[in-house]
Amino acid sequence: MHPDLERALQPVLDDLRATSAPLPRRVDDDRPDSDDDGPFAARAMLWGHDGRGQGVFVELRLSQPEQVAQVADGVQAWAVEELWGSAPTNWPRCPRHPDTHPLQAQVRDAAAWWVCPRDDVPVSEVGGLG
Ligand SMILES: [Zn+2]
Repeated sequence: MHPDLERALQPVLDDLRATSAPLPRRVDDDRPDSDDDGPFAARAMLWGHDGRGQGVFVELRLSQPEQVAQVADGVQAWAVEELWGSAPTNWPRCPRHPDTHPLQAQVRDAAAWWVCPRDDVPVSEVGGLG
């Protein structure tokens, strides 16, 4: 796996683990996306128990916190699909509104945070849930 993608994925997987959410099987997409200036994005697929796949990617020009937020969006989409039908799908759950929306990954103060989208309040750094 591309080191930028591996590094961005780690805190989000830590959050899945910390919240007892399912964990994906990761399959690297070996070739980074490239253009005339060289590689610009790295991708992987996340697979669930019933064969549903979700792509995640990082743009290599972005800062590390931006990459974490980018990957968190993909992992969140995967987790919502994976939890569908068996558990509440609002992963990660917003502690301020536990019955409605999930948290949203955003960059705040040069770090990736899970933020309550309704109140615009940072709840936890990505990788710090649990
Ligand atoms: Zn909320």
